[in-house]
Amino acid sequence: MTSSWERRAVIDLANIRENVKRVGELVAPAAIMGVVKADGYGHGAIAVGRAAVQAGATWLGCAHVTEALKIRDAGIEVPMLAWLHTLDTPFAQAISANIDLAVSGWELDHVARAAQEAAQPARVHLKIDTGLGRNGSAPADWETLLDRASSYQDEGLMRVVGVFSHLAVADEPERPETDEQLEAFNQAVALAEDAGFDLEVRHIANTPAILSRPDSHYDLVRLGLGMYGMSPFVGEEPERYGLRPAMTLTSRIANVKKVPAGSGVGYGLRYHTSEETYLGLVPMGYADGIPRSALNAPVSINGKTYLVRGTIAMDQFVVDLGPDIDVEAMLGSEVILFGQGGPSITEWADAAGTINYEIATRVSPRVPRRCV
Ligand code: PLP
Repeated sequence: MTSSWERRAVIDLANIRENVKRVGELVAPAAIMGVVKADGYGHGAIAVGRAAVQAGATWLGCAHVTEALKIRDAGIEVPMLAWLHTLDTPFAQAISANIDLAVSGWELDHVARAAQEAAQPARVHLKIDTGLGRNGSAPADWETLLDRASSYQDEGLMRVVGVFSHLAVADEPERPETDEQLEAFNQAVALAEDAGFDLEVRHIANTPAILSRPDSHYDLVRLGLGMYGMSPFVGEEPERYGLRPAMTLTSRIANVKKVPAGSGVGYGLRYHTSEETYLGLVPMGYADGIPRSALNAPVSINGKTYLVRGTIAMDQFVVDLGPDIDVEAMLGSEVILFGQGGPSITEWADAAGTINYEIATRVSPRVPRRCV
């Protein structure tokens, strides 16, 4: 028995490609940046990056330069943007690797110095904070940033090719703040154009905005969650948008035993059986990225749904299989935690009190990925 048989995340690259094509139809003529940070939301950044590009994504995006460099090293040549930096970010390496850099403020001088070092102008996307309160220039500092960037551009150290921002509440379409952010973004873009920058791309839309706000698409959309076939909206499954889940997380039943009514299960004995029943052991736990808090999450075994019972441990959890099972057939049966043929990742997120983004990105390196 191989470890990939005991636990594995099957990544359906055909579904990634279909999702990119589906979004491509929705946003055309805007282009797609496939967001492959956090190892492609846990799916494998390089495999996903290649699939996204095959399906028509013309950009890839990462949080960190170090993530983007790995993708370049794998031979993927499309334009790439990295947007989250520290003083130690290897800007010169990024410039040499033709990775575009987001600049919110302090980075400007560092990127200009790195361009000198790399003997190549940096390609820069200026970021405006339109209301999320994370990075991005405060609107009050925007014109100063434009002036300073313009000077560096005149010196041949950088080219400002993009203006972008990020939305705070696009997953709650009824909230008014998205309108306010888009209005602030329009003003920031207009000021950048007035300052003489010849912008290639203006971009603000993430998956929820891609799906719910056509007026946010501009020239480029940054597609993360939807590319992986997950829905950003509470109570709405991805199929409603024509999106198909890419990750299926599976394991195998490692042990089956009969226990009497009233038996305690797991650390803290937070579950007691209500009748004589069979308990099935699944060799997957929080060290594999399964949240310990996912009490009562559903799993699918041989087409039937069972619930996680008792506290999830580091390496294992228990499901109550009920009194009427074929023990021999059950041992070794595939357990689908979420994905194709099983519960949705969102059901796991709900059980754990979190969001599907977190469940996918937490699946740990101990779980082998198998691309199909
Ligand atoms: N753009 C930025 C700056 C992000 O941080 C992210 C992810 O959090 C995305 C785009 C992609 O968002 P989503 O996964 O909702 O498509």
